[in-house]
Amino acid sequence: MKQQANLKSPIKDVNEWLNSVRNCFNPLYSLFSPGSQIVDYFSSRISFHSPSSFSDEDLYQHLQSLNLVFRSSQVNHNSAAVIADRGVKKSHVATAAAHIWADNSVIKQLCVHSLNVTSIEAELMAIRTGIIPAMEIDNIHDITVITDSITAARKILKSKVDSLQNMFIPLAAAVKTFLSKDGSNKIRFWYYPSRAKWPRHKLVDDQVKASSCTPIFPSKESHLFSKKKECDRILCEWQMHFANSLKKDHYFLNFEDEKGIVIKPTYAKRGSWLPVIGFTNSLCARFTCMTTSHAPIGEYRQRFFSQLPTSCPCGKAEVQTREHIIMEYDRHDPST
Ligand SMILES: [Zn+2]
Repeated sequence: MKQQANLKSPIKDVNEWLNSVRNCFNPLYSLFSPGSQIVDYFSSRISFHSPSSFSDEDLYQHLQSLNLVFRSSQVNHNSAAVIADRGVKKSHVATAAAHIWADNSVIKQLCVHSLNVTSIEAELMAIRTGIIPAMEIDNIHDITVITDSITAARKILKSKVDSLQNMFIPLAAAVKTFLSKDGSNKIRFWYYPSRAKWPRHKLVDDQVKASSCTPIFPSKESHLFSKKKECDRILCEWQMHFANSLKKDHYFLNFEDEKGIVIKPTYAKRGSWLPVIGFTNSLCARFTCMTTSHAPIGEYRQRFFSQLPTSCPCGKAEVQTREHIIMEYDRHDPST
C-alpha cells in the first residue's frame, strides 16, 4: 500500500479508473418481481429463529432449542446443518467459512475470501458458501443454517432494489431451485451469537481467524464498501473539524468513554450525546447549557457581564465555575 501511495504513473491512473467500484445492481431480476418472489411461494418452508430478546434468560432458552434442532438434524438422514461465520481483517480481506454437518460429523469444510466488502456482504458470503453446497447434496431435504447474522439471511426474501443484490441474487435463486425441487424441502435459519462459544461454532471461527490471504493489487471494491469508505472519510473530516473548531471554544465540555477517550461526534444511532440525555426537552436544554457553559453562573457572568457578581452563593468559590457546580456544590435542589 505504501508503494501504491508513492507510485505515480499512468498505470496507477488507469487502474483507479477501471477498478474503483464494482457494479452490482440488477433491478429487473425476475426473482424480485411481484408475484415471483420466494416469499410468494415458499414462506411456509423457510423460517428464521432468533431469541425474543437478548436477555441472558431468553438467549439461554434459544440456545437450548438450537441444541435440540441441531441434534435432530444429525440423526435424521435427510437433514444437514450448516454453521457459517465470517471475519474481516484490517487489510480489508474478508474470510467466509462454513462447515456442513450430517450424521454427527463435518462432511464439508468451505472457505472463501473477498476483498473490499462490508461486514454484511461477508455475512451473506458465509451463508452462501455453506448453503449452496448443502442444497446440492443428494437426499437432503431439510437444512438448518446457523449464523450470527439473521439480518443477512433475511435478505434472501428481500424484494426491492438493494446494493446487496449481487450478493443475494445467486443465493435466492439457489434457494428457490432447492425449494421447488421437492415439496418437503425446508430451510431454517437459526441465530447463534459468537460469544456463546459453542464448540462446533468455534471450529468455524478458528478456521476464519487462522486463514490468511494476501490481497493482489489491483482490486475492485463493492458499491457498499465504496459508500462506507466515503462515509468514513466525511465523518473523519467532520470529527477533525469539530475537534479543532474555534467556534466551540475551550469552554466546550468534552465527554470521555469508559476507556478515557474523548467521545467524538457521529451521526449514527442518534449521535454521540442525545441517546444519553433521553427525550426530556428541559433536560436537553440544561445539558446544552452545561456542555457549552452558556448558563447563568459566575463563570458566564465573568465572561460577558463583568460588572455582575461572579462568586458562588455557597461562599466556597470566588468564581462560580461549571466544575465547582458539578464537583463541589452542595446546594443542589433535587426537585429541580
Ligand atoms: Zn459554591
